[in-house]
Amino acid sequence: MEQRQRNKTTVREQQQEDDQLEDMHHGPFPVEELQAAGIAALDIKKLKDAGLCTVESVAYSPRKELLQIKGISEAKVDKIVEAASKLVPLGFTSAGQLHAQRQEIIQISSGSKELDKILDGGIETGSITELYGEFRSGKTQLCHTLCVTCQLPLDQGGGEGKAMYIDAEGTFRPQRLLQIADRFGLNGNDVLENVAYARAYNTDHQSRLLLEAASMMVETRFALMIVDSATALYRTDFSGRGELSARQMHLAKFLRSLQKLADEFGIAVVITNQVVAQVDGSAMFAGPQIKPIGGNIMAHASTTRLALRKGRGEERICKVISSPCLAEAEARFQISTEGVNDVKD
Ligand code: ATP
Ligand code: MG
Repeated sequence: MEQRQRNKTTVREQQQEDDQLEDMHHGPFPVEELQAAGIAALDIKKLKDAGLCTVESVAYSPRKELLQIKGISEAKVDKIVEAASKLVPLGFTSAGQLHAQRQEIIQISSGSKELDKILDGGIETGSITELYGEFRSGKTQLCHTLCVTCQLPLDQGGGEGKAMYIDAEGTFRPQRLLQIADRFGLNGNDVLENVAYARAYNTDHQSRLLLEAASMMVETRFALMIVDSATALYRTDFSGRGELSARQMHLAKFLRSLQKLADEFGIAVVITNQVVAQVDGSAMFAGPQIKPIGGNIMAHASTTRLALRKGRGEERICKVISSPCLAEAEARFQISTEGVNDVKD
């Protein structure tokens, strides 16, 4: 009898261990979990105050950054890094395992079937997608649509999560969300409640908002983060050649924080970008050319770049400019009362 009892405990223990193992692959872990690995609660609070709310964010941070946190000594940093790397896998895995993990990546529908087709299902989670194009090309409209579709169940092209919207241009309109929610048969009030909105007033503020975003994402499941636009405030906060390198450094840091959110929480990050007319020799041959702003910093930070342009009337065209796995295809879509939709011929 006693033997059986003991076996039972071992089975239960085994199950608990299995559950823990399973958890290992299903972060993010709240940074508090480092306490079990011997990190003091006070130090964990310091990490949190510095915006590191998950064990992942600690594991992905360069040592240099951790050393900058007030009150955390070099010896402590070593201990923290060691504890974090035990929970978060940081070494090599097989391509097979990575392939299995990538199957779990979900795509959020754009609202247009034709567009989803060239995007292989929609906007990818876990990375940054940049939308650039002229004014009225549909960037903001696509962002609004995604805020609704990301709330849909997985089998309907959704991400089963909330959306976060950082608005640098003041063009966010909740009323549009209600119209789009109607189309997908979602309750308007629920849809609005599931979108966390913040207006960004300057580039420092825009960066600070990401700290708050991280702490909110630890609490609830978000599927999407929008920054519309990521670059507008940089154009006004920094001007001229003299401030160019400071601007690019600030922007790089901001984009890196966004990438970190995508890695940590598996959310889709969508940023919009404006374009400027290109003034070089090529314009003479190919007509007026436009290019996205932000230079190489922007080009390298976004995993997928999509260029939007106007077509006839309501029609818009989206082209895949750069992507690690999509062909450089084009798709037509339409902006309607119900958000981004397929073109009705
Ligand atoms: P900008 O660079 O100025 O921010 P954008 O690319 O974000 O431009 P959007 O605001 O996404 O442009 O798109 C504006 C277009 O969407 C306009 O042509 C407008 O007519 C159209 N639009 C906005 N609301 C509706 C609606 N309710 N029904 C149909 N079309 C709409
Ligand atoms: Mg816009």
